[in-house]
Amino acid sequence: MKREFELIIFDLDGTLYPANPEMDRLYPEAAVRLLIQKTGGDPEKVKQEFLAKKAELKQLLNGPPTSTLTLFYYYNIGFEEYENTLDTMIAVENFITPDPKSRAVIQKIDRHYPIYLYTTNNEKVGMKILQRLGLADFFPPQRRFTLTDAGRLLVPRREKLNYIKPGEKGFKRILEMHNVPAEQALMVGDSEVSDIQPAQQLGLPTYHVTSREDFYRLPEWLGI
Ligand SMILES: [Mg+2]
Repeated sequence: MKREFELIIFDLDGTLYPANPEMDRLYPEAAVRLLIQKTGGDPEKVKQEFLAKKAELKQLLNGPPTSTLTLFYYYNIGFEEYENTLDTMIAVENFITPDPKSRAVIQKIDRHYPIYLYTTNNEKVGMKILQRLGLADFFPPQRRFTLTDAGRLLVPRREKLNYIKPGEKGFKRILEMHNVPAEQALMVGDSEVSDIQPAQQLGLPTYHVTSREDFYRLPEWLGI
């Protein structure tokens, strides 16, 4: 039997495609590079400080935060400058292989449910990843909320952080935009801390992707 949902929200990295450790290393690298440029500090010292902050935030969240959240949480760095730094550092085609099977999964789900993308990645890099995966048409601008969108909100900087996962406001905003109650929206993601826990706290059912096989099984789980 088909499971009824009014909306299915997908995470991007590690969910729509497998996490790539080499690519993932570039996010903290970009953050540290930007901090060195900004502060003129000793590179090794800046790096150690950043890693210490990330560990501190890990304690606060009871699980590992993204480098992106760490950067914005502790440092006064602009959303756009981080996006542009990452964009110049990440050649998506070197790290991501298009996967027809994953694309077929999204194509099938898209025929049965409204779908949406909620990512801590930014618009430029996120778009390149979606294009590489052949998924850009499924997640046009009105169907996604990225780090860049959080940065554009007309709220104080500190408040913007609540729109970056695992902050709850981003989830709430997506539900409000679609006028969907939490229990009618499914969150699909790979991160316990960023996707699963905050969604569950708000009352969303969740589907935890821990492997590609998990992702491939999603249509079957949905009963479509
Ligand atoms: Mg993820």
